[in-house]
Amino acid sequence: MPGYAHCPSSHTYAARNGPAPTEDRREPDTATNAEPSGERLSTAQEPEHLHARPDWLCRICGEPWPCLEARTRLLAEYSDFPSLLKIYLSAQMYDALDDFTAHGEPAPLNLYERFISWARNRPPTR
Ligand SMILES: [Zn+2]
Repeated sequence: MPGYAHCPSSHTYAARNGPAPTEDRREPDTATNAEPSGERLSTAQEPEHLHARPDWLCRICGEPWPCLEARTRLLAEYSDFPSLLKIYLSAQMYDALDDFTAHGEPAPLNLYERFISWARNRPPTR
């Protein structure tokens, strides 16, 4: 008989009671369906300046998102909830980071400036 008794048993796999993998990484349901005052902006006929992935350029004006128009709209929509705006923008920034580095590129250095800093230092709105 070959000395086969000491085979480390890999069959003790019955108890798979580990914590669930972190696939549920949604933020609390604040950012997506936050409609502060319940009423949309009155300029509803304008096309929304949304980003197009994976380039993160504005679908309308082609500027790096959030473009000036998108920033203006976001500031208006979240004017009563600046912290929610930061949460939303952070989520967007990390999504963009995933896209920008999907092929091994180095992470862009200006993402914070682009996505968040303008929301912290609110420009004068008119
Ligand atoms: Zn735009």
